[in-house]
Amino acid sequence: MILEERLAEISRQRRDTSSSSSNQDMTRETIPQGSDTCPLCGGMEWVITEEEGVSLAAPCRCRERSLMKRRTRFADIPEAFHRMRLNTFRIDVYRRPEEKKKALVACRMVKEYLGMFREAEEKGMGLYLYSGTRGSGKTRMAASIANELMEVYGVGVRFAVSMEVLAEIRRTFDKGAEYTQSQVLDTLKTAEVLVLDDLGTEKVTEWVADQFYHIVNSRYVSRKVTIFTSNESLKTLRYDERITNRIKERCYQIDFPEESVREHIAEENMQYMFKKVTGMTSGSI
Ligand SMILES: [Zn+2]
Repeated sequence: MILEERLAEISRQRRDTSSSSSNQDMTRETIPQGSDTCPLCGGMEWVITEEEGVSLAAPCRCRERSLMKRRTRFADIPEAFHRMRLNTFRIDVYRRPEEKKKALVACRMVKEYLGMFREAEEKGMGLYLYSGTRGSGKTRMAASIANELMEVYGVGVRFAVSMEVLAEIRRTFDKGAEYTQSQVLDTLKTAEVLVLDDLGTEKVTEWVADQFYHIVNSRYVSRKVTIFTSNESLKTLRYDERITNRIKERCYQIDFPEESVREHIAEENMQYMFKKVTGMTSGSI
């Protein structure tokens, strides 16, 4: 299918879903097509009513839903990772043979895990992907797993970077913060599957350890699957045993290559562009 046809099809689907979801005529007249602005309050989240000459502001029906959306946004899969899948995870970008082999083994283990996911889910078994090297592909792999789980098993997955989790919790202490610490923690505790990316990069204080303990322990108790990525093995992760033991018990540990492939991929993308634009390989000039 050529691009134009595909775009036409997408806009047709959008029109269909937007007209079927809003059967109130008022909605279609007052708001532009494709907009999800609330027709009752126009997106203000408050409605003004007059009572005996006095204007009163009351929260609109849409407010609770919008608050929920805002406070879970930090745990969305980043846009850049939306298209990643296990079968697009490339082994050939690892250049050192022993690291290539490690990547291959890691891929096989992930594939195995995805194949037996229902069983793993029942036992609350997740994964712990680790390697000391940044840019070794752990986050790409975790995102691929998240996408496969959503697509194949229809599981709800949240994706949060550990530093951002802490920042989000700290924001709840601000004056006038829209939501509370426990609401942020709940988002992470109750997610069907949680990807916690880059655990161990944060400076571990007692407070930080407490936040992660709440999340890890709550998911442990309710047997919920968590996928971790870390630059530390469970032996070197600077958290105490209440956290590491629970992770150890509920995660298959997967050793990732100690090779950064970020630059290799960037380099290849450049060569690909060059070839596309000039019809030559960069080596041929
Ligand atoms: Zn509203």
